[in-house]
Amino acid sequence: MRYISTRGQAPALNFEDVLLAGLASDGGLYVPENLPRFTQEEIASWAGLPYHELAFRVMRPFVAGSIPDADFKKILEETYGAFSHAAVAPLRQLNGNEWVLELFHGPTLAFKDFALQLLGRLLDYVLEKRGERVVIVGATSGDTGSAAIEGCKHCENVDIFILHPNNRVSEVQRRQMTTLFGDNIHNLAIEGNFDDCQEMVKASFADQGFLKGTRLVAVNSINWARIMAQIVYYFHAALQLGGPHRSVSFSVPTGNFGDIFAGYLARNMGLPINQLIVATNRNDILHRFMSGNQYAKDTLHATLSPSMDIMVSSNFERLLFDLHGRNGAAVAGLMDTFKQTGNFSVEDDRWTEARRLFDSLAVDDEQTCETIAQVFAESGEVLDPHTAIGVRAARECRRSLDIPMVILGTAHPVKFPDAVEQAGIGKTLELPSHLSDLFEREERYTVLANDLKAVQAFVSQHGNRGKAL
Ligand SMILES: *Cc1c(COP(=O)(O)O)cnc(C)c1O
Repeated sequence: MRYISTRGQAPALNFEDVLLAGLASDGGLYVPENLPRFTQEEIASWAGLPYHELAFRVMRPFVAGSIPDADFKKILEETYGAFSHAAVAPLRQLNGNEWVLELFHGPTLAFKDFALQLLGRLLDYVLEKRGERVVIVGATSGDTGSAAIEGCKHCENVDIFILHPNNRVSEVQRRQMTTLFGDNIHNLAIEGNFDDCQEMVKASFADQGFLKGTRLVAVNSINWARIMAQIVYYFHAALQLGGPHRSVSFSVPTGNFGDIFAGYLARNMGLPINQLIVATNRNDILHRFMSGNQYAKDTLHATLSPSMDIMVSSNFERLLFDLHGRNGAAVAGLMDTFKQTGNFSVEDDRWTEARRLFDSLAVDDEQTCETIAQVFAESGEVLDPHTAIGVRAARECRRSLDIPMVILGTAHPVKFPDAVEQAGIGKTLELPSHLSDLFEREERYTVLANDLKAVQAFVSQHGNRGKAL
């Protein structure tokens, strides 16, 4: 499989190189040159497979030519063996024909484990083969950091540095990162906000001199391997609900358009999907595009669903590429306009096409709490705020009651106690057993000034299993 850039100017890469690349050299994002397509018979024949076997069949074409089947199978078996539920991604029925796909049974209790548990193992495999080491520098406002560290902690060939804003992530989220030790794990608490952390990561990609030749790898959702891993659970859910003989709808809490884009790809790969609903919080750039053809930067609002607090949606560019007939120059033009003016709209027929593909809704904090309370009253299920946004959007945008509606359950509610408390359901949640002593565990992290040079100096002094690069 070859991968091309959404801006059309960077060289095509194979899977191995895409895995190690961040942005393409032309500033674009990598996408598969040709999307694999499965027949209905083929998809139907996968019913009942264990999750890792299904994952092998869905992802095999994407890694073809880079990872031999036997090795890939082994990696996938290990990856999804790290999940605590036998079904890996179980479905739970909420209401008539309404289901939550529980994607929070991985080590850090959020769906990001699906991709990052795999990414860590793939990186280690490829680097071992090449005899290389890499450094990961990532910023987190919460879930990505812990999932990335959990995914990479056993990697022989990766040193990982995760920047979080000091005193500005929840205690559960901080402890999920800072209680993991290893000479290749480095938690940096930056005296600034999340944007400062992200700016430092971007600046480090732009100028990598401080790495003395060691390659820098991205772990945010611009990394193609993350999207690829997320395609699998759409097949998994549909197969359990009568697919592919019957179509299924999905409602997806999203900020960066990563998870929902994976659903769009699943549909293009042959999975019959009826509705794909984009569910955002008050940071609603995606909803404003879908409802009014305005892709416009707005101020950032802090919400009860912090993992979707974004101003711009990094993976949206991948959809724009398809909406423009895969014309890289057109995408580059739009992104340029966006950079200059902070907004753009697309031609009418392209927007109409986007409307045909997606429904959307923005849900505020009050409605989020209302939905948590409503679902608890109906079913006794406690939703995390992100999942609650998905449920709300599913209920408001649903077009058919006969077609099963699957809401992606992106996090375990125990990660977001504030929202659950504000919803007033009067229930305290307990950490699952593998994390029950989280609040007693020793923490390790280094506080650094909000200063790029200080961060880069730290990375170059510790980037080789705690020793200097
Ligand atoms: C990251 C995250 C999301 C949003 O994911 P996208 O990549 O923006 O689609 C939603 N919910 C939770 C709990 C998350 O951690």
